[in-house]
Amino acid sequence: MSEEKFSELKFSAWDQDSIVNTALREIKNENKTLSLHVWQTVLTDFLGEQGEFWDLKDDSVVLKKSENEIAEKVKEVVQNSNDDLTQFSIQLRQIWEQFNRENIVFKSLNDFFCEDLNRKEIFVRVWPSRLCPYQKDGFCVSVKSSTYAIKMCVHELIHLYWWQVWDKNINVIDKEGWMLSEMAVETVKRNSSLNELVDDQLREESQIALKAFYSMKVGDKNLFECLDEICQKVDYKVVDFMTEAYSFVKENFDEINAKYYKFEFDSREDLVESENER
Ligand SMILES: [Zn+2]
Repeated sequence: MSEEKFSELKFSAWDQDSIVNTALREIKNENKTLSLHVWQTVLTDFLGEQGEFWDLKDDSVVLKKSENEIAEKVKEVVQNSNDDLTQFSIQLRQIWEQFNRENIVFKSLNDFFCEDLNRKEIFVRVWPSRLCPYQKDGFCVSVKSSTYAIKMCVHELIHLYWWQVWDKNINVIDKEGWMLSEMAVETVKRNSSLNELVDDQLREESQIALKAFYSMKVGDKNLFECLDEICQKVDYKVVDFMTEAYSFVKENFDEINAKYYKFEFDSREDLVESENER
């Protein structure tokens, strides 16, 4: 038996300039990639509640200050959070080491995806928002609460494995593929040995995919049950699962997409526990 290799998570506070630049980009939402719900989250995290710096008008956001004033405010928030971010990244590393004892998270994921990540270090950059900008060369986690941050680590690790296998075998980037990758986080958890671990340790935070999917029905059937069935039908072979589940999402995309955005719209008052990224 060949020896398994395991990646290592490296936790640190993300550098201040990068945080400020990324936050300003997300605040402007120039490419309109953030939904209103997610957009409000990042605005609240960096500029405070609506009123002084921003407001809602006709289901969109109006920025009420000049670019300079907004940049100054963001810098202030980032500078003030710097010590906390450093402290939190140290704490988070300890919590992660307990959670991932004997590399149990990587073992589960190596098993499910039938490969490892082929990289030694994965950088977890801690930053002061619940929005997690996704980048294939590393990732950010939320700092709002420790259990939530561990959940984000597992969520992002599943994405890293998912995209590695997806890029090799399916290699399409479209909105259906993105939607599936967000759903599949839960399917991977449920159908691997991660299931007990996550339920045991994270308890109320054990819903690791986006909240909108948990109550969603496709036709009259629960979305995740549909995906579980596909997973069982292909005997848990991950590439076959990707292929079949991708067809399933394509066939039902209008319904899934409408329900996803309706959920986000209806729950926009309830930002605190939301999980957001793109
Ligand atoms: Zn995600």
